[in-house]
Formats: sequence, structure tokens, C-alpha cells
Amino acid sequence: MSKDWRLENLESNPLLRGARFIRKPYRMYAPNWDHDHCAGCWVKFMEIGTDSPHETILHEGFAVTDDYPKGAEYEWVCPSCFEEFGQAMEFVSIKSQNEG
Ligand SMILES: [Zn+2]
Repeated sequence: MSKDWRLENLESNPLLRGARFIRKPYRMYAPNWDHDHCAGCWVKFMEIGTDSPHETILHEGFAVTDDYPKGAEYEWVCPSCFEEFGQAMEFVSIKSQNEG
């Protein structure tokens, strides 16, 4: 039995194991970086209002938090990958805090 390719993608990044995530709307990581991809299935994330008739675009997902070595929101995981592989990857879902 071969492993799920999405899980293989996730496992190929050792930093993701046990990572903490917050579910939130996608927002641009940098002004010249208008989209991102799920670290598992590569579905595309873009900001709300940005849609394409040609591909699936998500506007919300799970983003890594400040304690991620490369910084908050550096990696995104879509809700279905998070649910399906969260246990295998030891993902931790933390509640978003009210800022301020
Ligand atoms: Zn995914």
C-alpha cells in the first residue's frame, strides 16, 4: 500500500511535524507574493475577492504560528488536509487570539 501523496508532501517538510496552526482567512505573505499553496495537496490560497474560473482557490486555511522557525503564515494547510493528516503529522490547532 503506497502512502497518500499529500501526506508525503507534508512529511517531506520536517518542520511541519508537531507544528501549531491557527485557522484564519488567507492573506498575502508579502506584497509580491499574492498566493500560497497547501503544503499537502497544493491547492491554491488567495485573498478573499481573488477568484479564478480556471482553478480551485481557497480563501481560508490553517497557517503556522509565530513559533514556526520560518515565521507565522509561512506555511498553509487546507482544512481537508489538516483534518485528514493532522493526527499523523501531530498538528496542533490553537484558537486564534483576539489581538489587542
Ligand atoms: Zn490540502
